[in-house]
Amino acid sequence: MFRQLKNIILSWFSPAQTDDFFWQQRWSDFLQTNVGFYRSLNSADQRVFERNCFAFLQTTRVEASGVDITDEDRLLVAASAVIPVWGFHDWPYLSVKAVVLFPGLFNRDFQVGLPDSTIAGMVGSGPMEGKMALSKPDLHYGFKNSKDKQNVGVHEFVHILDMVDGECDGFPEVVQAGHCSKQWFELVQYKIAQIEKRKSNINEYGATNSQEFFAVASEYFFERPLMLKQKHPKLYDYLSDFYRQNLADIEMDKKKKKTTKKS
Ligand SMILES: [Zn+2]
Repeated sequence: MFRQLKNIILSWFSPAQTDDFFWQQRWSDFLQTNVGFYRSLNSADQRVFERNCFAFLQTTRVEASGVDITDEDRLLVAASAVIPVWGFHDWPYLSVKAVVLFPGLFNRDFQVGLPDSTIAGMVGSGPMEGKMALSKPDLHYGFKNSKDKQNVGVHEFVHILDMVDGECDGFPEVVQAGHCSKQWFELVQYKIAQIEKRKSNINEYGATNSQEFFAVASEYFFERPLMLKQKHPKLYDYLSDFYRQNLADIEMDKKKKKTTKKS
């Protein structure tokens, strides 16, 4: 399914042709079925989302390591990239040249199926500089389960966003003009302490350090915005400001429409 997308991208995409936009209805259908964020958009914004996915795939290769790649995979990689920067216009992921998909969890040497193969996603360094590694099944599962506040694709692209200012520190200086990092890090330390005391519904991996906290909290923000706003209002406000997206209101509107339809 969707095999054509790769050929079209390879044969037809070129910087000179970015104004032309080719898209197939079945790719929209796939996003509609599999990407909750896309579903939450109105139809005009869905067209923008598609164009952004298309533009992303023009500049970033999706490669395979021991696994077949389908257009569904490419669309999910692109969706993972587009979601965190939805609030910014034409955000270029200049530092990501390729995303490499693996057939499962991998270790630090990118070997799959070993006892220490426990990594679902990683932003590369050294020989993997400019590349991102993702477990293909985990990429899909991140979108399939839209309630568990986890999405490895989004998580890794949040790290990329965090790194744009040259440092992966859990505070995206490049997007947060007007915020004081001291107050943000105080909030992060408090939230990490709550996780450690098991008094938080934020995934415990977020307690690893401030950069992982930022990525984990962002997954939560994009997957369960209303829950985040209710349970962690200050954190929600920060993330909503960082990402220039008020997703909780969109989710609330959707719920209201559903209730109206039923009654
Ligand atoms: Zn991480």
